[in-house]
Amino acid sequence: MPGGSRARAIATLVLVGAVLCAAMLLAGQTVRSMLRLEAESSAGRWAAELARALPDIEAIAGGAAPAEESRALLDLSRRLGAVYRYRLHAPDGSAGLSGGFAPGTVPAAAIGEREPKALAAMLAGRTVVRLAEGDGIREPTLRAEAFVPILQGGRVLALAEIDLDFGERHAFYEARLGRLVLGMIALIALAIAVPGAAFYWRTRQKQVADRKIAFLAHFDSLTRLKNRARFAAELPAALTRASESGQGIALHHIDVDRFKDINDTLGHDAGDEILRQAARRLVGLAGPGDIVARLGGDEFVICQQAVRSRVDAECFGRHLVARMGAPFRVRGHDVAMSVSVGTALACVDAEGASERRQRAAADAFVPAAEVLVKRADMALYRAKADGRGRHRLYAEDMNATLTERLAIEALIRRAVEHDGFELYYQPLFAAAEPELRAFEALLRLRDGRGGLVAPDLFIAIAEEMGMISEVGHWVLRHACREAAGWPSHISVSVNLSPAQFADGGVSVLVRSALAESGLAPERLELEITETVLLHDSEHVLRELEQLDMLGVKVVMDDFGTGYSSLAYLWRFRFAGLKIDRSFVMALDDGNDAIASVVRTIVSLGRVLGMRITAEGVETIEQAERLRAMGCDRLQGYLFGRPASASVAARTIRRHDAPRLARRARKSPDSAVA
Ligand code: C2E
Ligand code: MG
Ligand code: MG
Repeated sequence: MPGGSRARAIATLVLVGAVLCAAMLLAGQTVRSMLRLEAESSAGRWAAELARALPDIEAIAGGAAPAEESRALLDLSRRLGAVYRYRLHAPDGSAGLSGGFAPGTVPAAAIGEREPKALAAMLAGRTVVRLAEGDGIREPTLRAEAFVPILQGGRVLALAEIDLDFGERHAFYEARLGRLVLGMIALIALAIAVPGAAFYWRTRQKQVADRKIAFLAHFDSLTRLKNRARFAAELPAALTRASESGQGIALHHIDVDRFKDINDTLGHDAGDEILRQAARRLVGLAGPGDIVARLGGDEFVICQQAVRSRVDAECFGRHLVARMGAPFRVRGHDVAMSVSVGTALACVDAEGASERRQRAAADAFVPAAEVLVKRADMALYRAKADGRGRHRLYAEDMNATLTERLAIEALIRRAVEHDGFELYYQPLFAAAEPELRAFEALLRLRDGRGGLVAPDLFIAIAEEMGMISEVGHWVLRHACREAAGWPSHISVSVNLSPAQFADGGVSVLVRSALAESGLAPERLELEITETVLLHDSEHVLRELEQLDMLGVKVVMDDFGTGYSSLAYLWRFRFAGLKIDRSFVMALDDGNDAIASVVRTIVSLGRVLGMRITAEGVETIEQAERLRAMGCDRLQGYLFGRPASASVAARTIRRHDAPRLARRARKSPDSAVA
């Protein structure tokens, strides 16, 4: 409980306690006043009754023996009322008759000596009442001692000293008033406590909400790391400290690669769990004074302090990539992911201390916080563009890269909105005899300056922007429509991005593209890379089975460049396998090991009943070697570059006439590749 609330609660308790005591005191006094009044009235009535009923009262008070009836009346009056003993005195104070005293307890002294004040009051015609407590055995627990003058026509006939037993009355009143007081106290307490409790509860709620708001203003609720705002607030101070102390700073901007895929395939809860674990891992990797923050989404930063050299920062950056690449355990599964890291430096230079002094004032040496952040950001873009899962240190030429990327993003958006993509088609030939078998549809985006944007680049950016499914759908529909116009023995290959599988429903899209175009399913080939099967392969395999059931051929593209996990080849019956261009190029180096790898891939394909295509064939020598190694199809610049649909149509016409002529000469069997 905070200090203010505690003090208020204690003050309330003290107040309630004080009210309770005061109420008890007041109740006690009220009871005694009431008893005194009652005693006065009872004693007065008793005396008046005696004066009326005892004709010899004056004589009795003077010491004469009472008449028979008078004694009987006196005894009766003592037994019936509250009066349990009395003493009658003559007006001069001398003792007359007494009743109800235990033997030997009648006060010996005359009333004038014992109670001079009471005597004076009685002679003046007034009654005096006093309350006295007793032990409850010999005397009642409470008695009223009343001194009453017995008057007749204003003349004092006698003086009565009467004791009334008020033990029961007292207990009765106390119980009644006690209950009343308790009830009142309860009401008062309720009146204080209910609003008090409500106020306390509201205050607590507000404090909790305030604390939450304060936390959220500075920290990220998912990972509990500092948030972007807090990081932005702390970075300038860190830079100032660094420039004053001469110790360097490295800002590492960390981004999880293809985090959208993880979210899409494993679900957002698993994605959140990975981010939490990633945050904990980053905190563990950071040094004691380093700032670790989550900028949002899958982006983190570490502001590394006391960096001695550029090598220091690079080592740490690479270390981050390596350590963050170790699998995360989520719901009993190991989930592997990679991160890209971009690093920018402040107050660090490679030249040494003397140079440092000369450059101390230069912008490049102590950049403003925003500049440092922008540089780390650019280095991160470079790390991503260079293939992800790597570290890059900021260099001056990276500025242009970022501008270029933003321009490409704008081009993609415009192309999606205005149907601005184009499809090029690259021919694939049967290896045994150069017969046209298929075209691979390859997406093109114009750069607005008469050139084309590199597909590898803009497709990766479209994936990161989350737009690849829309783009992929467009490609599928256009490629099927184009191929439907080709001769029926020529197929079309369409590349599918892993992100399209993550979004799900690929088979539905394929079925609708086939239905829309009228293309026979066996004339459509879909090229996927191994990365498709990296995450949640069960879900992907189900999708691939669906495609297989449609009659479409699924081909493993770029085989040999990725993880090349042969397990994938066993788990799904791929119709074909495309050996990556890098192997074909490596063959030229005369590397025997590469040649035997290619031969192994070919024989593996044979065993699994797959058609083997070699990509990137540029020379006749390459074509001959690959043919000799047993490849079924060849694709590359040697046979034709990717070109527009009209060029593809011309290629078909050029190759179809001789084919038909050959076919007429040869047996039909030889045309099967
Ligand atoms: P890929 O599927 O492996 O496509 C083959 C790439 O190799 C194409 O590059 C093609 O132009 C190039 N190539 C073909 N023969 C030769 C050769 O003899 N020498 C050399 N040096 N290169 C050759 P491109 O068109 O730049 O496409 C690059 C990648 O972009 C493709 O690789 C594919 O992964 C991706 N891509 C292209 N279109 C699409 C698409 O519609 N959807 C998806 N998801 N990815 C696509
Ligand atoms: Mg391909
Ligand atoms: Mg390929």
